[in-house]
Formats: sequence, structure tokens, C-alpha cells
Amino acid sequence: MAAGDPPLSLAELDTISVTRLNSVSAKVAAALAEMEIRTVLDLLQHYPRRYLDRTKQASIADLLEGEEATVEGEVLSGSTRRTRGGRPLTDIVLRDATGNLRLSFFNQTWRERQLLPGTLVAVHGRVTRFRGLQMTNPVVDLVGDRTRRMVPVYPESDKAGLRSWEIEERVSEALRRCTQRGIADPVPETLLSEHRLVNRDLALRWIHAPATFGESQHARRRLVFDELLRVQLELARRKRHVQMTAQSPEHVIEGELLRRFCANLPFGLTDAQARAVGEISSDLQQSYPMHRLLQGDVGAGKTVVALNALLIAVQGGFQGALMAPTEVLAEQHLNTMRILLGDLCVPDDRVLGGERPLRVELLTGTLSVRDRKRIVAGLATGEVDIVVGTHALISEGLEYRALGVVVIDEQHRFGVQQRAVLRDKGPGDVTPDLLVMTATPIPRTAAMTVYGDLDVSVLDQLPAGRLPVETCWARGPRQEAAMWQDVRDAVAEGRQAYVVCAVIDESEVFDARSATETYARLTEPGGELHGMKVGLLHGRVTPAEKEATMDLFRSGALGVLVATTVIEVGVDVPNATVMVILDADRFGIAQLHQLRGRVGRAEHASKCYLVSSASNADAEARLEAVESSNDGFRLAEADLELRGEGTLMGERQKGRNDLRLASLRRDKDWVQKARTAAIDIIEADPELKAHSGLAEEIDFVLGDDEAGFLLKG
Ligand code: ADP
Ligand code: MG
Repeated sequence: MAAGDPPLSLAELDTISVTRLNSVSAKVAAALAEMEIRTVLDLLQHYPRRYLDRTKQASIADLLEGEEATVEGEVLSGSTRRTRGGRPLTDIVLRDATGNLRLSFFNQTWRERQLLPGTLVAVHGRVTRFRGLQMTNPVVDLVGDRTRRMVPVYPESDKAGLRSWEIEERVSEALRRCTQRGIADPVPETLLSEHRLVNRDLALRWIHAPATFGESQHARRRLVFDELLRVQLELARRKRHVQMTAQSPEHVIEGELLRRFCANLPFGLTDAQARAVGEISSDLQQSYPMHRLLQGDVGAGKTVVALNALLIAVQGGFQGALMAPTEVLAEQHLNTMRILLGDLCVPDDRVLGGERPLRVELLTGTLSVRDRKRIVAGLATGEVDIVVGTHALISEGLEYRALGVVVIDEQHRFGVQQRAVLRDKGPGDVTPDLLVMTATPIPRTAAMTVYGDLDVSVLDQLPAGRLPVETCWARGPRQEAAMWQDVRDAVAEGRQAYVVCAVIDESEVFDARSATETYARLTEPGGELHGMKVGLLHGRVTPAEKEATMDLFRSGALGVLVATTVIEVGVDVPNATVMVILDADRFGIAQLHQLRGRVGRAEHASKCYLVSSASNADAEARLEAVESSNDGFRLAEADLELRGEGTLMGERQKGRNDLRLASLRRDKDWVQKARTAAIDIIEADPELKAHSGLAEEIDFVLGDDEAGFLLKG
């Protein structure tokens, strides 16, 4: 790492093996490799979890009972005995210059081996009194013989056997050896000063070895910004690239078909729907492909907006496709669409009478061979105008004569890969316009990151006349009894109810069994729903049975439908007014909100019961959130707070994840700042020609995998 060479880029740091460091022996290298640290870059990006601030430490002599404190000292002795209850109890005696303190660990006999006499540690915990002052199960950091005021605490791995201070030593050599050349900073100076960010070299030094807490915060902010900026730049670059290179049909918005459709609608659009339709229409007129996300709360009326886009395609002689994640949902979309379409006819000069019926078909994996053949042929010849289906729509060899608009109902279930395949099915070099819908809202920062290359339309308004669904958490037998009475009363008044059984496992077999048992228990003599007309629906009934049951429920012949979460999305029976969710603690917030959205779809007052006697804090927080708010956007934020982003990003996130420090929760403002900065940069320099350092870094960090994950669709 000689002087005179240019500052080190991240890519270059990643070519230098940790074994080049003097402090890394073969044994240490093996231990580091165990923690996925192989290069100097890996090491520099192994960020401290937190810091011990020695200025905030107490002396043992000054400890007060009942207070939380951090003390540092040397282990004097250790011993293990059994409590009267038979639990192993390990006592460690810690000494500092002012006195001794007992640390008591229950069920942690390994502490005696970890905390050998002479070991230097910092411990944090509450001070209690039991034959003198002590701490029970404190947080322990092995700090070694450090003299710094701020001590970084690194994520350790027991398997690797490297302690925090041992990692610190290697990091500090790495930083020292980078001093001469320095670390390159590809982010424009103007951005750094605008956001008061330190340069990258300093940020890396301060994140590992801050002199003050403030320095560590400055460092974190800068590194968080880097991570978010890279993602946003890539999103903006791809989006711009598609706009400049891909061709899509230039649809004509005004037309007879659409006029008829609007005139036939049994309701007027909400303002939010009208706005979304306007945004989509203006995208569709462009020569580059639409790439838009339609976000809306449950029941906000996304289907009619999507249908509007599909009909614009049909009106110009193109075809439309709507892909849903499950068969039930596909069928439901088809039903909703058929109702909205009525017997709409397509004006067509080539046929006798000047018009022909609009042809909408369902394509799923369970069609008979004959039906499938018929529909596949119709898609190839263009006789089918709109097709609704599952991922059968993207099966290989399936051809469309002129696919013009694609709608995907996402629900976090499709991979971006699948989005890309469907878009590739356009005629010739033409890319169909794409509209992605989410079943429930997702938080803004997450949307910007996960769907950041899409434009967004938001339906933040429910159709007029809807009464909010009242939600009750039934926590015991008395409340449950009242709930069943409510179900019976509702059905007696001509309304209908759902009873949803919990997911037992990821297994359809278990779910089906649980639903079947619940059904039996409720309908047997003495059961809560005995003598009523009750249907049963789960993932294991045949498509024909499923269709028959849904038809019976839709027509009102069944009063109650006992079901698994197959009804989670899309099922739309406005006459249903009671939703009972059994074992509600097993569902996530979004799922509960989605299920609740199955009722309250018409002018009748509706209720949703969450049945659970759960007593764990997480479940309670979820149930309380759902009970106290009907606002899907608010719940989405609450969900992110409770679960963290891991789960949210989880399904989409494959390969490397560049968000090491950045948190979509903590760093909301920075997501927005990075996005704005990225859009500005790309507008002025779409190919990043004047920002070659940034361009190289994005390619290096996000790589093909990551960029693909984020951006294909
Ligand atoms: P979601 O956004 O949950 O998918 P849907 O598109 O399924 O909502 O619409 C829910 C119900 O509301 C459907 O029965 C639909 O026909 C009806 N609907 C949609 N828009 C309106 C509106 N503007 N006024 C009245 N009812 C509407
Ligand atoms: Mg819907």
C-alpha cells in the first residue's frame, strides 16, 4: 500500500487479503474467515455493534442499589454451585481500584471458563443487593487492555473464538496501513457539505475508533448515506435506462370501449382512484414503458383502476394480463372484473354488427388440458383480450399476439424475475406497460427501497359510505361466547360471516386438518354454529369444490364460511359483515389487516374479532395495533417498527445485502435524502459518466445479483 498511488477504492480494498496484515496469523485468518471476513474491505466493514463510553463508567465503590451501571475491572475469581432449586449459579468476583463486585450468572457455567482470573471486562447491568451488592446476568464485554475512552464492541462469534478487542487490533492495523494512500471518496463534495457529512476516510476511522460518541455518530451517518445512495443511484439509473431505451405501445386513452366501461360502472370513482387513473393514463401514452406501483389500503378499490389500464390496452388492439399470486385470488379478480365489465362489447369494424363481446379468460395451473389449449390458442391469435391467472401466465412457450399492459398483484410473493419474464412477452421489441399492485400498503421508506425504480400511485381513500370495521380482541371464554352470539345474530339478519383458522405450519396438509377440525367442532351438536349453513374451504379441496363453495357463499346460500387463509386476499362478498380470526396471535399485522378487509365492503356495519389469549409481548403488540387502527398505512409503519426490516426485505433479498448499517426504520430521513440526491445526479448525468467512481462502486457493491434483485421487474 505504497504512497503515490491514488486513494484506495472499495473494490481495491476487497482485493487485499487480511493475511497481508502483520497481526493476522494463519490461525487468526481462519477465525476471521469463519466470520466471513476475508479481505481488508470485509474487515473495515465489520462495524462495531456499539461502544463502551468510559466517561460514563462508575467505580465499584460508587455503585448504588437499584441503578443501572457499567463498571470495568479485572476478574479476581470464579466458582459455580447449585441453587436450592437445582440451577447452576456461577459467581464471578470483579475488582477495580475501588472495590469488589459479585456478578451472578444463572445457567451460564461457561462464564467460569470465559472469565478467567486476570481477564479485563466491562459489565453492564442493574445493581441489586444480596449479601452485598451484585449484578445478576449482566451484559459482559471483554475489553482487553485498552486505553481508549470509547471502546468499540464488535459482533463476536463463539465459533470463531475471536474476541472484540482482538478484532479491534486487526482493524486498527488495517486502518493504519491505509493511511498513506487514504481511502477514496467517490461522493461529490457538494453533497457531502450539503448534508454535513464527513469524508469516507474519516468515517471509516471514526466508526472504528471514535474519540467521542459524537464522532461515532458522524461516521455512522456518512456510511449509512453511502449505502442508501448506492441503492438509490442504481434504482434511478435503471429507471432512466428503461425510459431511454425500451419501447412500449403508445396507447390511446380516449376511446369508445373506455367510454362504455365508465358509463356502466355502478359507482363513481373516488378522488384517489381518479388521480391514479390519470397518472396511469398519462404513463400509458408515453413511448417508454410504464413502470408503476399502485399502493392502496384494503378495499380502496385497486381492481377497477387496474381494469381501466387493461381496457386501454384492449381498446388499441392490444391484450392485457393480470397475474395474481394464488389461484383463489386470480379467480376472485376475474369475478370482480366480470361484475365490473358486465356484458361490455368491444367496438370492432371487422365484425358484423361493428362490435364483439370482450373476451376475458382465466389461466391457472389446474385447468383441464382442453381448456388450457383453447385459452393458449386464443392468446396467440389475439382472440382473448384479457387474461387473468397465476404464474401459469409466464409459463414457457406461452405466446401472446400483442401483450400491451401487464398488471401484477404482488403481495410480496412474486420474485422480480417473474415480473421480468412477463414483460418480455411483449410483441417483438415492444415492452408491455407494467402496473404492480400491493395487497396492503408498505411503509414509504421500504417502498422507496424495494420498489424504488417504480413510480407510485397511492389510493389513500376508501369509497364513500363504508363504515369502519369495528375490531375486538376476544381474550377469554366470555368474550368468545358473546362473539359467537354475534355471528349467529348477523346470519339471522341475513348477513354472512367468515371464520378463519390459523396457520399451523407452512404446510397445507396441517392447515387443512385444522380447518376441518374447527369446522367439525363448530357444527357438531352443541357446537357454536350447529344447525347453520356452514361451508369449509382450504387449500386441499379440489378446484371444483372450491368454486362450488365460493359460489354458494357468494349467493348467500351459506351463512358462514370456515376457511384457512386461502381467503386472505381478494375475496369480495359485500354481504359478509363478521370476520372471526382464530388464534389471531399467529398472524402478522399485514395479514390480520388484510383478513379484516374481507368485511366492511358495503354499507353494513361490520365487525372483526381477534381470538387469542396470547400472552407474549410481541403478539400483544400486534393485536393491539390492529385493534386500535384501521389505517393500513399506519399499520404498515407499526409492522416495520415491530418486526424490523429483515422480514420485510427477506423474500426479495437474495445474495449480498449492502444495507449493513442503514435501517429503514431508524434512517427514514436518510432514505429520502439519498433518493433525492440520486435522482439529481442521474438527471444531470444518466450514465454516471462524470461520476465514474460511483458507477464502479455500484457495480462492485451491488453486483449483478443484487442489482438484478432490486431492479429487474
Ligand atoms: P382492493 O383495493 O382491496 O383490491 P377492490 O378493488 O377489491 O379493493 O374493491 C373493493 C370493493 O369496492 C369492490 O367490491 C369494488 O367493486 C368496490 N369499489 C371499488 N371502487 C369503488 C367506488 N369508487 N365506489 C364504490 N365501490 C367501489
Ligand atoms: Mg382486491
